Amino acid sequence: MKIKKRYTTLLVCFCFMGCATTSQEIKTSTAEHEKVDYFADNGFGNAVAVVQHPAGIYHKGVTYLCYQGPLEDPYVASYHHETKEWKGPFKAGVSEMGKDSTRDKIDNHGKPSMLIDDAGTIHIAFGGHGGMSIQGNNPLGNYHYGKNMHVVSKKPLDISSWEISENIPPFGTYNQWIKMDNGDIYLFYRHGAHRSNWVYQKSTDEGRTFGQPVSFLKHKRRDDQPAVDSWYPWITKGKGSELIVVFDYHICTDSNVIAGKNIHLPKRYNVYYMVFDTQTGIWKNAKGELLDIPVTRELADEKVLVAQTEGSWTFQGVIDLDPEGKPHIGMTIGEEIEGSRRSAAKTMCHFKFDGSEWVASKNTGLPKGNGDIEVKSADEIHFYIEAQDKNDLGEVARWTSTNGGETFQKTKVLLQKSKSNFAISALIENPHPDAQIIVAQHKPGTRFKKMFLLGENGPVMRDKKEAQRLKIEEKE
Ligand code: ZN
Repeated sequence: MKIKKRYTTLLVCFCFMGCATTSQEIKTSTAEHEKVDYFADNGFGNAVAVVQHPAGIYHKGVTYLCYQGPLEDPYVASYHHETKEWKGPFKAGVSEMGKDSTRDKIDNHGKPSMLIDDAGTIHIAFGGHGGMSIQGNNPLGNYHYGKNMHVVSKKPLDISSWEISENIPPFGTYNQWIKMDNGDIYLFYRHGAHRSNWVYQKSTDEGRTFGQPVSFLKHKRRDDQPAVDSWYPWITKGKGSELIVVFDYHICTDSNVIAGKNIHLPKRYNVYYMVFDTQTGIWKNAKGELLDIPVTRELADEKVLVAQTEGSWTFQGVIDLDPEGKPHIGMTIGEEIEGSRRSAAKTMCHFKFDGSEWVASKNTGLPKGNGDIEVKSADEIHFYIEAQDKNDLGEVARWTSTNGGETFQKTKVLLQKSKSNFAISALIENPHPDAQIIVAQHKPGTRFKKMFLLGENGPVMRDKKEAQRLKIEEKE
């Protein structure tokens, strides 16, 4: 379904390229600056991820993008495809996390996601990991840290100055923004730490005010074992006024004692799918059966289960529709890890709904790694995945199926770096072909991460002096 938008983009770009030839040639011929393949060197922690999305939007000739920078604050940059001019990154706000020197871990939950409303105002949500009890009562879940915040650009499409918009609760985390074709804005997030409902809030006035949070996935204590039901959904646009949701289940156990220590384990299982029609307010499963929200574990297992993964852990679903409206899901799945090592790379797996039941592709050839899915037709499916081989060669590549997801082949390498791995964003919204995904390079021994904007021609280049943000910030 993303294909339709992509074609519109292509037409626009050809037009821009034709008009822009003269100015581009002049700029290139006079440029003596050394170019680098990254646009900033101040990414921090897991600077981008698939869950906080979109982290980038193509809008009127410009790609806007955001990521977590120094002190876990949100940073925003833009790239003008016609003039090849980069702007920023500018700091869009100050996170309540990342400042306390007694906490040695980078939290990473509060990284930014963005939306551009119909008036051109850019919205960023960031900074939350469940909030804290001093901020008040969380009626929908528990607490952990930080404060979910909403900032807006002071001027339309201007990333240089921002102001706080105090109109969302402090308890959110994993913000996911969606703007509908009629301009309505939806902000989806988890209303607290692990033991919290997932909610959305709707705005019909360009994000100036939001309706009350509406719970659609319910956290609930289990009566068969000492644990609480928890969820990790990923929401994006479906057909017309519909939103589509892929999710997995987290059993949040009260204790996992390993070698005398109580360790919280990221036990995530199964694949689920449901649909929300924003016009009618109706929630349903793939077969069209109606669902009451908030969906409980019992209802999810009965009505919206795509696949059971008993004995294997899941991580981070992604989803897209084919032109007939049939959903295709990507979910990474790997072995359970009962030791103190908390996670390991999982294999990207493909599922599709054939009209009556869910089908899991077997032996697809897809690698271990996270990424996003783009379905061009019922036969042609692409994954964009970050992966690492046995020799620590890190790679971001496109994997293509031409047989409806049965098998995939690597069809394009967008970026490759030795002794590295990458944190990857979801696909940029309405992407320009040259700028489809954002990655951060993780290299052992480096505190800050180089940030890359990748597309059909690999990374979008930038003047080295401009890209070395840490040096610029030292001077300021
Ligand atoms: Zn948990």
